[in-house]
Amino acid sequence: MAKLDALIVGAGFAGLYMLHKLRQDGFSAHVVEAGSGVGGTWFWNRYPGARCDIPSIEYSYSFDAELEQEWTWTERYASQGEILRYLEHVADRFALRDGITLNTKVTAARWAEQAGRWTVSTETGTSIDAQFLILATGALSEPKAPDLPGLDQFKGPVLHTARWDERIDLAGKRVCHFGIGSSGIQAVAEMSKTAAQLTVFSRTPSFAVPANNRPLEQGESAAAKQTYPQMREVARRSPLGFAAPPRPGSGKAFAPPDREQRLEEAWNAGTTGLLNAFEDLLFDEESNAHAAQFARRKIAETVTDPETARKLTPQGYPLGSRRLCSEIGFYEAMNRPHVTLVDVREEPVVAITADAIITSTGTYPADAISFATGFDACVGAIKAIAITGRGGLEIADEWAGGPRTYLGLAVSGFPNMFTITGPGSPSVLSNVIISIEQHVEWIARCITDMRTGGKSMIEAEPAAEAAWMEHVDEVSQQTLFPRGDSWYKGRTADGRQVFMPYVGGVGTYRAKCDEVAAAGYAGFALA
Ligand code: FAD
Ligand code: NAP
Repeated sequence: MAKLDALIVGAGFAGLYMLHKLRQDGFSAHVVEAGSGVGGTWFWNRYPGARCDIPSIEYSYSFDAELEQEWTWTERYASQGEILRYLEHVADRFALRDGITLNTKVTAARWAEQAGRWTVSTETGTSIDAQFLILATGALSEPKAPDLPGLDQFKGPVLHTARWDERIDLAGKRVCHFGIGSSGIQAVAEMSKTAAQLTVFSRTPSFAVPANNRPLEQGESAAAKQTYPQMREVARRSPLGFAAPPRPGSGKAFAPPDREQRLEEAWNAGTTGLLNAFEDLLFDEESNAHAAQFARRKIAETVTDPETARKLTPQGYPLGSRRLCSEIGFYEAMNRPHVTLVDVREEPVVAITADAIITSTGTYPADAISFATGFDACVGAIKAIAITGRGGLEIADEWAGGPRTYLGLAVSGFPNMFTITGPGSPSVLSNVIISIEQHVEWIARCITDMRTGGKSMIEAEPAAEAAWMEHVDEVSQQTLFPRGDSWYKGRTADGRQVFMPYVGGVGTYRAKCDEVAAAGYAGFALA
C-alpha cells in the first residue's frame, strides 16, 4: 500500500464515514477491518432480537441529504439485518469498498519519531505507512465472556451475542444463557420462542422499558424526510443526541396522580421516553426514585412468579445510571413455563460439565451456552492494539490508571492519532451516530486546517488533557450516572473506577470542540 495520509481502523458507522469524508476532502485514506464485512456493531451482533433502541430515523447518518431521502426505514427501531443492509448500501453508494481491506486485524501501530508518521502492522503481516492514525474501533466492539470453571469441558456450541453464529439453530435445544443487559434482554425474548428449555443466569437486573416497536407507515417516513434538516439540527445541539428534549419540570414538583400520568406517557414513548420524563431525572435522586419505583411496579405487574419478579427487579442504583434497556416481550418470556431464572449472586456457578451448568444448589442441563456478558467498553479495542507513541509510550500502560484523552479525540504522547467516540466524549451516552459524525467532521476539518496552515503534526498538550479529564469527572459527579456500577466506568489497574463518557451534553460538547478548533486548536501543540 502506498504511503497514506490516513489509516482508519474499523469499518463501522465511524470508519465508513471517515473514509468518505477524507476522500471528499482530497486525502488518501484506507480502512482496515477485522471482520469479513463492513458494518461494525451491525456486522457482528447477529443474535436473535438485535435491533437499535433509538428510532432509526434518528439512528442513521445525517451527512448526506440524498441518502436520507432515498433510504426508507421499515420499522421504528430497525433490526440488525436492516441496519447492516443500510451500511452496505452506504459503502456501495459512496464507492467505499475499494478503500477497505477486510479480514485484517490491526495488531500494532508505532509512531516513527523522525519521519513523523505511523507504521501500522496487521495480523496478516502487512505494514502500512500513514501520517494519521484514526481509531474508528468502536466503544462496544471488544466482547467479554466470563471465565467459568469447566467451560472448556462443555461439548455443545458456546455463543456470544457480539460474535453470534447464525448457522447454529437453537430451536428445540436446552439453552443456558448468561447476562440480561441490553443484548441479553433482546436475545432471551427471541430464544424463548423456540428453545426447548431456556435457563437465564443473571447477575445485576436492568431497568427495561417496552420498545413499542412497529412498522413505519409510509406517511410517517415521508413526514420525517421533510423535517430531517430541522430534526438533525435539534439533535446536534441536544443533551443526548436525539431530537426529543427532556420534558420540563422536576419529578418532585408533581402531585402523585399527575406524576403517574407523566410516567405512564413516558413509559409508552419508547426507550428514549422514560429518560426524558422529567428534566432532573438524571440529576436528582428523589425525582429519579419516582421513575425507578414506577418501572419496578411495571415488572411486578408483568412477571407472574413473585420470586422471578424479585430477581428481575433492579435495586440499589438510579434508573439510567446503567444503560436503560429496551424490551420486546422479555418479561412475558420470563413467564413461560420452560424459562427459568437463576440469580448467580444467590446461586453461583460452581462447574460446567459436558452437558450441564452446575450451581451451588442445582444442575441445569444444556445443549448450548450463550453469553450476553458485554464488552470491554470504551477502551478495550484500543488497548488491544499495541500502540506505541512518542518515546516508547504504550497506550495500554498509559491507560492503566484510567483512560486519558483530550476531548475524547486525542491522547498526549500519541501525535497524529485520533479516537472516534473515544473515552472523554459523549459517545456511548448519546445517539452514537450524531457523536460519530461530529468527530469525523472535526477530525477532517483539523487535518484540512493543518494542510492549509502547513502543519504536519498535532498532539494534545498534557495540561489540556488533564484539565479535560478533570472536567469530565466533575461533570459526571453532578449527575446520578456515577452512582450505578456500570460499564460506563473503567476499572484502573489499582482497582479505582473512572467514569469514561462526557455527560455535559452533546450540544455543549460540540460547542467546546468547535471553540477549540476556532482558537487554532487550543490545547494542542502543532508543528
Ligand atoms: P463499531 O460499529 O463497533 O465498529 C468498529 C469496527 O472496528 C468493528 O467492525 C471492529 O471489527 C473493528 N476493529 C476494532 N479493532 C480492530 C482492529 N484492531 N483491527 C481491525 N479492525 C478493528 N448506539 C446507539 O446510539 N443506539 C443504539 O440503538 C445502539 N444499539 C446498539 C446495539 C448493540 C447490539 C450494540 C453492541 C451497540 C449498540 N449501539 C447503539 C452502540 C454502537 O456500537 C454504535 O451506535 C455504533 O454502531 C458504533 O459504530 P463505530 O463505527 O464507532 O464502532
Ligand atoms: P452489558 O450491558 O454489559 O450487560 C452484560 C450483562 O451480563 C450484565 O448484566 C452483567 O452483569 C452480566 N454478566 C456478566 N457476567 C456474568 C456472569 N458471569 N453471570 C451472569 N451475568 C453476567 O452488555 P450488553 O447487554 O451486550 O450491552 C452493552 C451495550 O451495548 C448496552 O449497554 C448498549 O449501549 C449497547 N446495546 C444496545 C442495544 C439496543 O437495544 N440498542 C442492544 C444491545 C446492546 P453485571 O452488570 O453484574 O456485571
